[in-house]
Amino acid sequence: MSETDTSAPTLAKCPAPKPWIEAIHAYVPGRSKGKDGRPLVKLSANENPLGTSPAALAARAQAPALYPDPDSTELRAAIGARHGIDAARIVMGTGSDELLNLAAQGYAGPGDEVIYVRYGFSVYDIAARRCGATPVVAPDCDFGTDVDALLALVSERTRVVFVANPNNPTGSFLPGGEIARLHAGLPSDVLLVIDQAYGEYVAAHDDDGGLALAEAHENVLVTRTFSKIFGLAGERVGWATGAPGIIATLNRIRGPFNVSATGQAMALAALGDAAFLEDSRVHNRDERARFVGQLEALGNHGLRPLPSQANFVLVLFEGALTAEAAFEGLAERGYIVRWLPGQGLRQALRITIGKCEDMDAIAAGLREMAENAK
Ligand SMILES: *Cc1c(COP(=O)(O)O)cnc(C)c1O
Repeated sequence: MSETDTSAPTLAKCPAPKPWIEAIHAYVPGRSKGKDGRPLVKLSANENPLGTSPAALAARAQAPALYPDPDSTELRAAIGARHGIDAARIVMGTGSDELLNLAAQGYAGPGDEVIYVRYGFSVYDIAARRCGATPVVAPDCDFGTDVDALLALVSERTRVVFVANPNNPTGSFLPGGEIARLHAGLPSDVLLVIDQAYGEYVAAHDDDGGLALAEAHENVLVTRTFSKIFGLAGERVGWATGAPGIIATLNRIRGPFNVSATGQAMALAALGDAAFLEDSRVHNRDERARFVGQLEALGNHGLRPLPSQANFVLVLFEGALTAEAAFEGLAERGYIVRWLPGQGLRQALRITIGKCEDMDAIAAGLREMAENAK
């Protein structure tokens, strides 16, 4: 021991995370179990109640266990063919979550600003903070996305604007004219990310024009996922399209083998199963309308389902029955939905559209609780 070691022992230093990383609230996934650990019907993660295409399940068994194709060549070609996009303008991700993070990381850093709406997808906040950028939150317009509010926050520090369309957790949808107006109002060096995770659920005549914007402009990225209508959330497959420069940027920083071999094989098969896709879309459209009708029939009990173009409905509790009590009551009845106090939605539940009998049970449970609440 050296002579200098006579001083009082000092605490060993440990690695310090970057302050912007420490400021992140980790993503909270939808629960699938009750407080007592018993499994509940999970309507908290916007998964497809019809499950997964049988063709995709069959393809899983065939996938090799070696390194996957790093460029997902066949899958990108199939996506390109389906949507009329040059496959060179498509990049795959480990879910669209990876692509949302890469978009922020590629274009923003400390000192820059990233804009999104209040009551937006919580991954945008994480994506912005993760790269050291400053999140800037635009006010909503009765829970919907307000293009003017977004544009009013644009400054010379703005680098990325995230918009989910339809939006999660509100289900609200911006028509093509509004998306075009948002894009037209942004400086050409600001990246507009249009997150179409629920795009397949939108009625065909309501196309928001995002893919056409991504084709025509240098500053638009559209993200899509196989997690929602395709029922492949467990495989983590997403894709994005935009100008070649943006795709090259994301390719530089993505994981080289970011989409697994099973993910690629299952997504390819799922794309080819038009019948499963259409069944899923029609089930959701019809069941969502029926469920909203049942809630609206409760009229004066203060339950307000917001208009939704997605596979879930955000229900506001504005009467004697609180969202928290309804959340607990539904759990007692065997259903887990999403209560989002952490996102400023203490008065709301986001309920995924499930099977017919489950939606009937939820509507009946809400009616019973609302009638008994004082
Ligand atoms: C579910 C969801 C995603 C998709 O996430 P994956 O990583 O592709 O599973 C993206 N954006 C929004 C708004 C979502 O709700």
